Amino acid sequence: MNCRHCNTPLKHTFLDLGFAPPSNAYLTEEDLNKPEVYYPLKVKVCDSCWLVQTEDYANADALFTPEYAYFSSTSASWLDHAKRYSDQIIKELGLNSQSFVIEVASNDGYLLKNFAQAGIPGLGIEPTDSTAAVAEQLGIPVRREFFGAALGKRLTDEGKQANLIIGNNVYAHVPDINDFTRGLKAALKPGGTITLEFPHLKRLIEQAQFDTVYHEHFSYLSLQIVSRIFAVAGLRVWNVEELPTHGGSLRIYGCHQDDPRSTQAAVSSVLQAEFQHGLQDLNTYLKFQPRADKIKDDLLSFLIAQKRLGKKVAAYGAAAKGNTLLNYAGVKPDMIEFVCDAAQAKQGKLMPGSHIPILHPSEMLNRTFDYALILPWNIAAEVVHQNKALRSRGVRFVTAIPQLAFL
Ligand SMILES: [Zn+2]
Repeated sequence: MNCRHCNTPLKHTFLDLGFAPPSNAYLTEEDLNKPEVYYPLKVKVCDSCWLVQTEDYANADALFTPEYAYFSSTSASWLDHAKRYSDQIIKELGLNSQSFVIEVASNDGYLLKNFAQAGIPGLGIEPTDSTAAVAEQLGIPVRREFFGAALGKRLTDEGKQANLIIGNNVYAHVPDINDFTRGLKAALKPGGTITLEFPHLKRLIEQAQFDTVYHEHFSYLSLQIVSRIFAVAGLRVWNVEELPTHGGSLRIYGCHQDDPRSTQAAVSSVLQAEFQHGLQDLNTYLKFQPRADKIKDDLLSFLIAQKRLGKKVAAYGAAAKGNTLLNYAGVKPDMIEFVCDAAQAKQGKLMPGSHIPILHPSEMLNRTFDYALILPWNIAAEVVHQNKALRSRGVRFVTAIPQLAFL
């Protein structure tokens, strides 16, 4: 396999998690009568451009089912984040009723509704029917397509170039990152701004966030590689912010290469920090696997110890990252009896691979257990806060990453 950005043959493995079912392939009871398909889950690093990327494998198309279960509006803290961003960027760019905003991967309209409320016309791009339908009910126009160079060109031909193109947690999920970036270039008005948010590879490595690796997550991004991919497409990253979301994300601000805005000092400071953390040193990548293995071993030791003591462990948050962790560790319902999740679409289903049943969060109060393992550690504080009643009952909250911790 060659690098998806620079086409150099990939020789080095960053992380090998064996085989796993797709992280979002939640199962029904009937599905248990059928075979479950597992795909290799391996991440490579390019020693020429340093793009960290999942390995290609056969039948990748079968991975993406239309009934994608993730609705952005499920998380209260993510909605707050989206609102704060909208207020800030509308002010900063002076957007008004004459402006045009495109959001790629607009999901259920969690973000564009803020622009609609401010009277700013917007367009969502969202291939997933179930979420797109919710956005349309809010009055937000949606193109039910994948974004790339072809769609970018069509939008230009239709006179729909944008003053602002937003991509939150989509850039790392596109298989052809060069084509996607050419689409951004095509759909951006002269003088326009692109903002992209994605989990920061530097944080993934620092915090051993190996569970953020799953099949649909094709690239693990640093500012260095994004700046490079932008430059090749005729774009420039002129500003960057470090955000606490998803365990540490970057929000990059892009423009056309010849835009008069000067590149801000934050760009060189983040690039420098990445370099100092060894993101352009092969050894950094080769040393990661043993850290992931230790986390897996520590979690298993904890679960086995509790089982032998006759204690019960439940989980909170049927997130994709939880599936990566549980499947790598080989955890089954004998160790974690159930998981609660606020997303209706997941309730009544089973976690892929582990087959742990997913229940409504009210079951946290109805059932008896000793520990609650919070799988989406990025919202651990929110979960603990919402479930104070459990703590007073003696339940202890646990997270597994970056190390086993009791909250
Ligand atoms: Zn490369």
